[in-house]
Amino acid sequence: MEFIEWYPRGYGVAFKVKEKIFEGKSGYQEIKVYETEGFGRLLVLDGTVQLVTKGEESYHEPLVHPAMFAHPNPKRVLVIGGGDGGTIREVLRHESVEKAVMVEIDKIVVEVSMEYIQIDGGLLRRMLEGKEDRAELIIGDGVRYLRENGNFDVIIVDSTDPVGPAEMLFSESFYKDAYRALNDPGIYVTQAGSVYLFTDELVSAYKAMKNVFDRVYYYSFPVIGYASPWAFLVGIKGDLDFRRIDLERAKKLSLKYYDPERHETLFQMPKYVREMLV
Ligand code: SAM
Repeated sequence: MEFIEWYPRGYGVAFKVKEKIFEGKSGYQEIKVYETEGFGRLLVLDGTVQLVTKGEESYHEPLVHPAMFAHPNPKRVLVIGGGDGGTIREVLRHESVEKAVMVEIDKIVVEVSMEYIQIDGGLLRRMLEGKEDRAELIIGDGVRYLRENGNFDVIIVDSTDPVGPAEMLFSESFYKDAYRALNDPGIYVTQAGSVYLFTDELVSAYKAMKNVFDRVYYYSFPVIGYASPWAFLVGIKGDLDFRRIDLERAKKLSLKYYDPERHETLFQMPKYVREMLV
């Protein structure tokens, strides 16, 4: 048996799977979990790969830590999406964090992740029960939450791709709300899809962010289980250089994939990407 995710232009990524562990539908999306032959459990939303449990840190580390190490003192952090719990888990590894809020639209993703994915070390359950001092879980739309809240040092968008409930998370009006909701200095970071399969979406998000933030950065990382190098976009409020990180803080965390001592390698950009992001 196999699971295949088809990308545009007839390109696909396939996993050999031992069995289907879960299949269901929420009000927002179709949710499936498979046991794969070589990568642990696979979480699939609306036919798109979200993570494999053997190697998920190759996504969550480069999404979270560069922004956290680039900010001088991240105390208040907002995570939008991230229902599997990997992103909030990495955020809470930072001692400076006093309060982290995670806003996930789909409670079923959280429940399925607690039961079948289990990369959160019990964090999601503790958050749902209000037993986690530094972190709160809100089931709701991140777009609406951001419109009504603020005072964050770092905002991390760990969403599905820009179709369906996540579409607005890649719009200029959302970036404006994010800019307002950030403290100064502040950092906004979002996953931004496949470098060469969703190039149009990446370029349009980059341009919209440039209209709003004081500076915008692009970086990419090879994520295990994803179809191509994955893009991330960063928007800065205030005077902050995302190319410089606090290595002393970074040395305290032992990371598997993102290497803070080689932070500059994140910014390697193929010629065709450089030419598009002008
Ligand atoms: N690592 C994944 C990837 O890039 O493929 C993302 C993982 S996480 C499971 C994505 C989550 O974003 C989903 O659980 C989805 O429900 C959530 N999401 C999508 N749109 C949202 C919105 N407007 N507000 C809050 N959460 C949202």
